[in-house]
Amino acid sequence: FWEFLQKKFQQEFAAVSYQTWIESAQPLKLENQKIFICVPSSLHKEYWERNISTKVVEAAYEYSNQEIVPVILLPNDLKTTQPKTQTDNTAPQATNHLVREAHLNSKYTFDSFVTGSGNQMAHAAALVVSEEPGTMYNPLFIYGGVGLGKTHLMQAIGHRMLDRDPQANVKYISSESFANDFINSIQNRTQEEFRNEYRTVDLLLVDDIQFFADKEGTQEEFFHTFNTLYNTKKQIVLTSDRLPNEIPKLQERLVSRFKWGLSVDITAPDLETRTAILRKKAIAENLEIPDDALSYIASQIDSNVRELEGALVRVQAYSTMNNEDINISLAAEALKDLKDSQHQAGLTISKIQTQVAKYYKLTVDDLKGKRRNKSIVVPRQIAMYLSRELTDSSLPKIGQEFGGKDHTTVLHSCEKIAKLLESDLNIQHDLTNLKASLQN
Ligand code: ADP
Ligand code: MG
Repeated sequence: FWEFLQKKFQQEFAAVSYQTWIESAQPLKLENQKIFICVPSSLHKEYWERNISTKVVEAAYEYSNQEIVPVILLPNDLKTTQPKTQTDNTAPQATNHLVREAHLNSKYTFDSFVTGSGNQMAHAAALVVSEEPGTMYNPLFIYGGVGLGKTHLMQAIGHRMLDRDPQANVKYISSESFANDFINSIQNRTQEEFRNEYRTVDLLLVDDIQFFADKEGTQEEFFHTFNTLYNTKKQIVLTSDRLPNEIPKLQERLVSRFKWGLSVDITAPDLETRTAILRKKAIAENLEIPDDALSYIASQIDSNVRELEGALVRVQAYSTMNNEDINISLAAEALKDLKDSQHQAGLTISKIQTQVAKYYKLTVDDLKGKRRNKSIVVPRQIAMYLSRELTDSSLPKIGQEFGGKDHTTVLHSCEKIAKLLESDLNIQHDLTNLKASLQN
């Protein structure tokens, strides 16, 4: 089965990703329909659990029409859990059962959160809320772009509450799971249970509520959940990629309630904070990385913390593969591959133009043309920006493909979008969507 998996993933993943994630993993044994796989670091483990585990399950069906579930282990787990796994088949990493019941990730605590200019306010508000739940800021609404620590911070509140009161009823849920649970409860006629479950918690954490857009019934239900909790002074914490009034099709009464408490934003971390985050991760992972190499990595990745973590994993994997210590030049080598792998094979400027035009309901000719209406100019600049970022075309080449524009125009457009991206949530949102659709 492992060989089968390797072959399959070799086709599916880009060469660099394959080397980083798959080659470094070792199958240990197949037992009771579980495949035990050992990976080198907790960053690998997280990546496997997030992105690869479901693929393994799918592949198992393809291979033998059976359910085989991967269990991802770290070298450290082996020492402690191996004797156990032979007798019982409970999950190997025994996290605190309270934390598990609340659906919290044990890593997302205040201790592991690094504060800096972009998140200071949000961090302070989260601390206050965990000290005095239900009284000061209710709801607490945290918003900002992807990978900036919203989920982490919101869960830290949950951990803190459980630390102080292990009896507390804490519940973390994504807005999508909330919607699914709700729909299932209607289908299974278990609405009573559903309501009891959500309306009796002490702390409710609902993540990414922008996905409530368009879900009328769920919004209705959440409105009542919200009111019950609010009236009984139970703390509610919400996150979203934008402000409540910017979420399309969110009922006005929800928008106004979400504004009752405090809204705080998280913005991208500055270089200093990024370096501090890396240092903290390196220590947690027992990695020996000199300070100058840490700042170098931080200077190369300025978009979001999740990518920053990815870069660290990559550098680490590269150092293991080549059996060399981590320093600036090794980091540069490792990240060069990362930049290359962002250039999608087969993605062309013309595909980008088609996708962007479709997204903004324009024509490709609009993008290539010279009309200066705002509704065309920004999409045009976005298309140029994506061409620069996702293909390895030169500026003059991009200019040429956009109806023969000068390379300085292209450069100006890219800089303009990069600048807007720092503050404009709509642009951030559009770019995330566009990239996702281009990557499929
Ligand atoms: P979001 O929910 O905003 O998309 P996450 O909370 O999932 O972002 O954060 C992405 C990753 O970055 C997580 O692994 C998280 O632990 C890490 N992270 C984000 N901000 C910080 C920070 N300030 N300090 C330490 N880790 C951080
Ligand atoms: Mg999140």
